[in-house]
Amino acid sequence: MKISITRTTQPKAKPADESKLGFGKIFTDHMFLMNYSVEQGWHDPRVVPYGPIALDPSAMVFHYAQELFEGMKAYRRPDGSIQLFRPDKNIERMNNTCDRLCVPRIDPADALQAIETVVAVDSDWVPHSKGTSLYIRPFIIATDPQLGVHPSHTYLFAVILSPVGSYYAAGLDPVKIMVEREYVRCVKGGTGLAKAGGNYAASLIGQKKAEDMGYAQVLWLDGVHRTYIDEVGAMNVFFVIDGTVITPDLCDGNILPGVTRASCVELLKKWGTPVEERKLSIDEILEAQAAGRLDEAFGTGTAAVISPIGELYDRGQTYVINNGKIGSIAQKLYDTLYGIQNGTVEDFMGWTRRLSVKA
Ligand SMILES: *Cc1c(COP(=O)(O)O)cnc(C)c1O
Repeated sequence: MKISITRTTQPKAKPADESKLGFGKIFTDHMFLMNYSVEQGWHDPRVVPYGPIALDPSAMVFHYAQELFEGMKAYRRPDGSIQLFRPDKNIERMNNTCDRLCVPRIDPADALQAIETVVAVDSDWVPHSKGTSLYIRPFIIATDPQLGVHPSHTYLFAVILSPVGSYYAAGLDPVKIMVEREYVRCVKGGTGLAKAGGNYAASLIGQKKAEDMGYAQVLWLDGVHRTYIDEVGAMNVFFVIDGTVITPDLCDGNILPGVTRASCVELLKKWGTPVEERKLSIDEILEAQAAGRLDEAFGTGTAAVISPIGELYDRGQTYVINNGKIGSIAQKLYDTLYGIQNGTVEDFMGWTRRLSVKA
């Protein structure tokens, strides 16, 4: 596809202190846009200066939340070159989310070209310091200017970029999480498997409740039995019981199929570490903790890579995991994954893709 590029005449100053980047607070000079109509399909691919998007107030996304997104990163290698981590996985997942939300798919090669082109145009924005990266946020919104409830006929695909530091100010320090017994994130047959903004809107109340009580994240239980573990906040979750790593399986469609999750499972299998994808109940976890058999717990996601869990709170009780410290499996997964991502560990899994687009 032929992407037109319009460069900004007013480039912004890049952040002087990369240790203060935080997450998703500043954006680069450019963005990628592409429109969809029934007659033309996906058309008019373009890189333009970053800025507000004008939409009709009746645009469907504002009313019925027909919206989806992705999250991935570009990393600066020690030699100064830039690489992406498994971008094909994100694009495949984006198209699966499109199917669930009645949004037209985007040709995977075009989506990759779009992402690589805008990253290349803003390549100077990929930070250099340890722990930093350029977060890539592709998203699609429904733009039909009308209020009838049905799938939109027009859409906008956009890719914006944000230089980011460590996701948690505390770095790899274990977080405290709260088991959520009142609210649920999704139910079987719903959109739990889709990376949709609407899922987040529905989860805010649980997240807020946890934060008000001093916890960083929510541990979501399944919406039907209120027993099985789904996810932790916006991350997939792993528990290590008696040396076996267990993560909830994807079978019920409740769980977002994380690229980090899949990569952890593949690494563990490669290392010969016992790993199981299966249903895991909150009772099994609390019983294992009581018996001293719960070795570790951690969340996984692109933003934080690995987020160790040091404490669980449930129904007035506190359960400390691994003395509140990061476990050896979480540490090994973090060192390997993040090392592969930033090019300091050899990519023995073939997961990285060097940026070769010139812009
Ligand atoms: C994005 C996301 C994840 C993590 O997926 P990664 O591909 O590993 O970043 C997990 N859960 C939810 C709900 C998510 O939106």
